[in-house]
Amino acid sequence: MDHAEPPQWPSLDHEGVAFLAAGRLCGGYFLFLHGPMSSGKSAWAIKLARNLSMASTHVRTFSTGKVERTKIASRDGQSVPAEWLSPTTRLPSADLIAEKPVLIIDEAQFLTRSQAIELHSLSIRHNLVVVCLGLLWSAEGRVFSGAAALLLCGALTRPLPHDVVCWCGARAVADARPMGPGDSRRYVPVCFDHATIDKS
Ligand SMILES: [Zn+2]
Repeated sequence: MDHAEPPQWPSLDHEGVAFLAAGRLCGGYFLFLHGPMSSGKSAWAIKLARNLSMASTHVRTFSTGKVERTKIASRDGQSVPAEWLSPTTRLPSADLIAEKPVLIIDEAQFLTRSQAIELHSLSIRHNLVVVCLGLLWSAEGRVFSGAAALLLCGALTRPLPHDVVCWCGARAVADARPMGPGDSRRYVPVCFDHATIDKS
């Protein structure tokens, strides 16, 4: 029995964007790249959107959550316009099926379960490329509901390559609220060992 070629994976090192932008993507590619704050998720999304556009690939960029966002913005001042998926927004699926853009979803941890399931359907049933970027863990040590829904749907899940480290020097995987006196930062990056994650 013949088997279809398995999807080709982008290498998720610094060449990853070029790999994706070179069009070496199969349809039906449903990827969730996660990382802590400051790991460059939005910068990665912007770079991917621009590179794909330069390669004449139709792209639609989205951001999610309760707070309206009409752009994806990175800490280095770059941005691209984005459509806002509020928790009550239905994906424009008919348009997406007709247009077949590459979908880039920033802040994907805020997707609702039904939005994640619809993205899965677009990807698998309609052969669309969907790249989601977001946080995996909340500062309270819970997997964000949108991230959990993406895992549930079988998105190819990979940590985004980054150099954010915990105070102990290990690679950061999550964020925590600082406990020390005088630390005014809202969140600090932490490794798995030092994250507020139930490990019992
Ligand atoms: Zn640590």
